Amino acid sequence: MTTAHTLTESATSLLELEHRHAAHNYHPLPVVLAHGEGAWVTDVEGRRYLDLLSAYSALNFGHRHPALLAAARAQLDRLTLASRAFHTDQFARFAEELAGLAGKDAILPMNTGAEAVETAIKVARKWGYERKRVPTDMAEIVVCHDNFHGRTTTIVGFSDDPEARTGFGPFATGFVHVPHGDAEALAAAITDRTVAFLFEPIQGEAGVIVPPDGWLRDVRRLCNDHNVLMIADEIQSGLGRAGATFACDHEQVTPDLYLLGKALGGGIVPVSAVVADWDVLGVIRPGEHGSTFGGNPLAAAVGSAVVELLQSGELQRRSARLGANVLDRLRAADLSGVAEIRGRGLWWALDLHPDHGTGRELSQRLLEGGVLAKDTRRHTVRFAPPLTIDEGDLDHALDVLEGALRNA
Ligand code: PLP
Repeated sequence: MTTAHTLTESATSLLELEHRHAAHNYHPLPVVLAHGEGAWVTDVEGRRYLDLLSAYSALNFGHRHPALLAAARAQLDRLTLASRAFHTDQFARFAEELAGLAGKDAILPMNTGAEAVETAIKVARKWGYERKRVPTDMAEIVVCHDNFHGRTTTIVGFSDDPEARTGFGPFATGFVHVPHGDAEALAAAITDRTVAFLFEPIQGEAGVIVPPDGWLRDVRRLCNDHNVLMIADEIQSGLGRAGATFACDHEQVTPDLYLLGKALGGGIVPVSAVVADWDVLGVIRPGEHGSTFGGNPLAAAVGSAVVELLQSGELQRRSARLGANVLDRLRAADLSGVAEIRGRGLWWALDLHPDHGTGRELSQRLLEGGVLAKDTRRHTVRFAPPLTIDEGDLDHALDVLEGALRNA
């Protein structure tokens, strides 16, 4: 471990400036970053850190991936924004390529993950009224306990995290909860008014919760049997993170709608999308939904380059292989402070025994050791290194992690 983390005067003054002029909706670790390359970031004092958070999985390809930067730079010199009042050369190609990656007909582009989720809710309700003949304004969507789908008022309204929702009501109705990973509960929750089941194939913010084997296949069967749309929020789990293009691939299951975001923007611009077939997306007609920035040419150029990086499957296989090594190593290590280790692909979380400190304290010790990660629940830290991380660097990060756990 390196010595304790002290900030210089200029870094401290930046922290204070932010505290004075930016809302306190985050509780960042005390580090001021100025530069990033691959899996490494450098702070304003020149200290280097391995980034094992990857902007909550938005940096699957690392910081400033050369192919993504080249695509962005080329597009910056041509056309950056037109709005979808007009067609652009970049958007048409991006739509074809992303739909192709998912094996679907079409995409509806947005910017943030929460917007993709909101879009899917609108699509599912409209589909329910037009195709399933659910009585007007009676559509129900089944969601999971401990879900995290974003921060809009509708979305936090169906979160059961008190911190996310308390004080922000009144909320939209029409959501029913079941436990994640429980097919029987889903079967019992479905009624004639159910239009969709919205879920994370692996719950990210809840602490990388991997459902029991077979659950995704059961979900697919139940959705087929009851004419319910299966909506997989792969905003965090998708695009290689879980060791496959989509986490649903682990059970060879295809949802009706994929929700994608985060890494789709290559760590450069916010890009999200709903990806589905025409029998679903066709319910949205001109004027019924939109976004000034959604599908803009810069986003589309970067998004196309992201799809290209995933085309060979190499990064997905790397994520699966390195992730399996990480889990083997951590499970074999004698880490008495750790209650549970969960993961899939290059994505894992540790629950600490409560008497071994909080996730925040562990993140602080990791920072001192030159590794960036962040607590997600009080006693849980989640890790999501860039899928491109050098194997030696990953080993080094695990040395730091094991050291930090032994010092707990
Ligand atoms: N869905 C999932 C599964 C997420 O993990 C997140 C963000 O963490 C979102 C949606 C929201 O994405 P955004 O922060 O881009 O709105």
